[in-house]
Amino acid sequence: MTLIPVPAFQDNYLWVLHDGLRALVVDPGDAQPVLDVLRQRGLQLDTILVTHHHADHVGGVDRLRRETGARVFGPAHEPIPAPFTPLAGGDHVDVLGIRFRVIDVPGHTAGHIAYFADDVDGAPLLFCGDTLFSGGCGRLFEGTPAQMLASLDALAALPAATRVCCAHEYTLSNLRFARTVEPGNQELQRYQEQCEMLRQRGQPTLPAVLGEETRINPFLRAREPEVGRAAQAFNGADPGDALAVFTAIRQWKNEFR
Ligand code: ZN
Ligand code: FE
Repeated sequence: MTLIPVPAFQDNYLWVLHDGLRALVVDPGDAQPVLDVLRQRGLQLDTILVTHHHADHVGGVDRLRRETGARVFGPAHEPIPAPFTPLAGGDHVDVLGIRFRVIDVPGHTAGHIAYFADDVDGAPLLFCGDTLFSGGCGRLFEGTPAQMLASLDALAALPAATRVCCAHEYTLSNLRFARTVEPGNQELQRYQEQCEMLRQRGQPTLPAVLGEETRINPFLRAREPEVGRAAQAFNGADPGDALAVFTAIRQWKNEFR
């Protein structure tokens, strides 16, 4: 299988996975870049997977369905361009011979879902939309901090080798904030240098690797003492209360420039 982050808009990736003949695409906010990849590589679009209802994730669904006949799957409790097959946590969907498990990840939006496959060419694969980013997490537009923390905990519990396919290239700005939260985290510093080099060469920083995220992403580290102390210094949060710490760093990130 070949995994391609197709750039769109300012900083979106529309993820395409294909076997040389058939393809799936995740969150096609725009149809044209996907149609271009399909034509260049001689692929038939089989399936569209949607994680949540925002326009930069569904804007190309109708045109792709019309022009390719692809089937569409999406979150049961969000307004996705119909017709589509509704999915919720615990459901499975089989695409190109791969079984994806659906995980409920409310927080960024109320009905956001993620797609996880435990073995695609030897490593697990996660499509998580705007829930988990490399070095960061999605803004809380519809959900509560408690929901988002639980969603991120569920993702963090997946295998360390999981390749994390996020929908935005936000990594460098996320890491600037992460360094502010954890200036003493040496792995974070190394990771930032590595990502800066990739971006200088015009390459994506994604997919991220989940095990590394658990060591560098402050939003997966609300239980780490250094993150707790930083949250306490920000707004007096109890450093032993993971939810208070998570809430503080999410608010801090919103205000961070
Ligand atoms: Zn979004
Ligand atoms: Fe988005």
